[in-house]
Amino acid sequence: MSEAHCPGGDKMKTENDTERPTLKNILQQPGNDICADCGAPEPQWGSCTLGVLLCHGCSGVHMTFMEASKIKPLIESKWTDSEMQFLAAHGNEVAKLKYEPAVPIYYHRPKFLEAQVLKEQWIKAKYERQEFMDPMKRQTYQEELREGYLMKKGRDNMQYLSRRFVLTEKEGTLKYYTKEDNKVPKVVIKVDVINASFQPEKIGHVNGLQISFLKDNRTRNLFLYHEDGRVMVDWFNAIRAVQFRWLKLAFPAAADHELTTRMMRMYVKEGFMEKTGPRQTEVFKKRWFTLDNRRLMYFKDPLDAFAKGELFLGQKNMGYSACPGMPEGTQCGEWSHGITVTTPERSYVFTCESEGDQQDWLRHFNQVIDLVMSPQDFAMESLLKHR
Ligand SMILES: [Zn+2]
Repeated sequence: MSEAHCPGGDKMKTENDTERPTLKNILQQPGNDICADCGAPEPQWGSCTLGVLLCHGCSGVHMTFMEASKIKPLIESKWTDSEMQFLAAHGNEVAKLKYEPAVPIYYHRPKFLEAQVLKEQWIKAKYERQEFMDPMKRQTYQEELREGYLMKKGRDNMQYLSRRFVLTEKEGTLKYYTKEDNKVPKVVIKVDVINASFQPEKIGHVNGLQISFLKDNRTRNLFLYHEDGRVMVDWFNAIRAVQFRWLKLAFPAAADHELTTRMMRMYVKEGFMEKTGPRQTEVFKKRWFTLDNRRLMYFKDPLDAFAKGELFLGQKNMGYSACPGMPEGTQCGEWSHGITVTTPERSYVFTCESEGDQQDWLRHFNQVIDLVMSPQDFAMESLLKHR
C-alpha cells in the first residue's frame, strides 16, 4: 500500500485554476460521493487507470491486481494534470456504465460493512475478470450443475472436514455427501428455504459461509469455508442463481426485484444475551441469539447446528411487544440490562451485558414489530407455532 502513497506531494491547486479540475469539482460529480465498489461514504482514494473513487478498504483490493502506483490517496498525493483530467472525465457513474451493465439480478453486490471476501471478489469480478460487461457471457456460477468440495464443520466438534457438495438447478437442491463414494446424500436442502451469509468472525476463517435452512420446521446451520475466496463466493452466487430461478417458477407473475426480496438475506443482528425460562425464576443462561427477519433463534454456542429454541416476532397490534426492563423481583444473572419480549403466548426475559447492547437489540426488535406482516410472515408464524 505504501507504494501508492506519496507523502509530502503537491497539494491540489486552487479552484481558480481552470486548466486542472479540482478535487472538489470531482467529488461533487454525481456518484463520486461514495466508494465506486462498496458504497462507503467519502471516498479517499482514486484510481488513475479506471477513473473511480474508492474507500480505503477497496483501494487495497485494487492494488492487488492493478499497478499499486496507479491507486493514490486523493489528497496528499501527486496527481498529474492529465490524471486529474482523466478522473474528472470518468468517475464512478461512467465506470458503472462500463463495468456493471450486465450484473445478474441475483448476484450479491456487497456493501461496505460486509465480509471482505465478498468485496474482494466483487471488485475482481468487475474489473479484473470483467464478468459484467457482456450479458451473453456465461459465468461459473450459472452452471446447471455445480459440484465440488468444501470444508464443513462436524456436528459435535470444531473439526472441519472436506465434503462433496452438489447444487442442481433442475432439482432446485443443494446436497452434501459424507463420503466420496457415497451415493446417498447426507442432507438434501431445497434451495428456496436456504439462507446464506458470510460469517468470517464466527467461523474463524476469512471465507467462512453459514448456510441455514428449515428442516422439519427447525433451523439447521451448516458452517463452511474454502481456502479460495473466489470458489466460496462463486458457490454463494450459484446458490442465489438457482434460488432466483426457483422463485421465478413459483411466482411467475412477480417482478424480478420483488423476487430478490424473498431471497437469502443478512441477519438483522446477532450476539449474546442471557435468558431465563418460562417461569422467569430459572437461572439465567448465556445464549447466542440470531435475529433473522422475524425469527429470533437462540443457540448454546454460535456454531451450533440446531437452535435450542426460537420465537417469532409478529406485529404490534397482534400482541407482540419489546420493552426495556424485566418483571419486578426477577433474579437476573451476571448481566442486568433487561428486555421483556411479549408474544400472544408468553413473555421472554433477556438480559444484556451493556446498556448500549440492550438499546440496540430493542431498536431491532421494535423495528420488526412495527412492520406489517407479509403473507410469507404469516406462513412462517403458523409453521413455527405448529411444529
Ligand atoms: Zn469501498
